[in-house]
Amino acid sequence: MTTRPAPNAASPAEAGLSIVVPVYNEAANLPALHARLAALAAGFAATRGLAVEIVYVDDGSRDASLAVLRGLPNDGVDLQVVSFSRNFGKEAALVAGLDHAGKGAVLFMDADGQHPPDMVEHLVSLWLDQGYDVAFTAKAHRRNEPALRRLFVRTFYALLNWGARHKIPPDAGDFRLLSPRAAAALRQLPERNRFFKGLSSWIGFKQICVPYEPAERIHGVSSWSFQSLVGLSIEGLTSFSVAPLRVASVFGFAMAGGAFVFGLWIILEKLIWDIAVPGYASLMVATIIIGGVQLIVIGVVGEYIGKILSELKARPIYFIAEREVREAAPGAKTG
Ligand code: UDP
Ligand code: MG
Repeated sequence: MTTRPAPNAASPAEAGLSIVVPVYNEAANLPALHARLAALAAGFAATRGLAVEIVYVDDGSRDASLAVLRGLPNDGVDLQVVSFSRNFGKEAALVAGLDHAGKGAVLFMDADGQHPPDMVEHLVSLWLDQGYDVAFTAKAHRRNEPALRRLFVRTFYALLNWGARHKIPPDAGDFRLLSPRAAAALRQLPERNRFFKGLSSWIGFKQICVPYEPAERIHGVSSWSFQSLVGLSIEGLTSFSVAPLRVASVFGFAMAGGAFVFGLWIILEKLIWDIAVPGYASLMVATIIIGGVQLIVIGVVGEYIGKILSELKARPIYFIAEREVREAAPGAKTG
């Protein structure tokens, strides 16, 4: 069904490039994005003889996205439109794109225009001319994001990389290019819970980070709520680090140590100065704190157990409602 890419094609350019675009309620952004990508593809074909296909993965959009995708012109570029049976989330859309990408190298790119198409040429040149396997981008700054979100992001990466042998580059985005062998490596990873930023750095090979200035969304609003960001962060943390478990143990030790010292102190007070136990307030506080810490720790452990459960169930990551493959219209194809 799917043409598997040739990871060891004789020359990298022979392998070709699949541009994977996850789409969720992006009807207004698609025509302009597609025109830009098609122009890029024609350029690559003409200048480098690089065959390009665009894989749109419709992640159960509720607007007209799918209809718009079906109507996109395929002059000069191969097209695939994969649509999900429901909204499975961006990470799932990326997995589907990776699974169906048939050209070799894979480029992930958002549909909302925030990932500047002009950078694609640079990423491709890093791969073809300089032999990088993973060219990923990182936001140059987060000045225009709310302070609370920035703090949250900073804490997240600090926790994620705390004591980790393999550090995940902070602020790396999903906008990245994978060489055929890097894409093949990512496909081999068996886990259901996939945190792409982490995984594509974890696989190794020759990696390079390219800072970029994220553009404003052209139309619509970001579909990430604070809640879904928290979700993705927990996902990332628990699949890439045991830092939360470690924090829990450190907390536990500190609490137990404190309690032990406090107990000793109470005994000494009684023996030396014969001070009666003053009681209620301190007991109450200690009980509540210990109770709280225990709940947190149980929650942390629960996250990991939940992860084990979901890996164990081994459910598919997504279901495809329909898939349409359109070869570039003959005659219009350049190169
Ligand atoms: N997206 C998706 N499924 C979702 C949410 C988002 O496929 O459930 C896509 C969306 O269409 C866009 C990309 O993921 O192409 C990034 O989404 P968004 O712009 O909402 O996120 P942000 O740029 O704020 O991180
Ligand atoms: Mg966006």
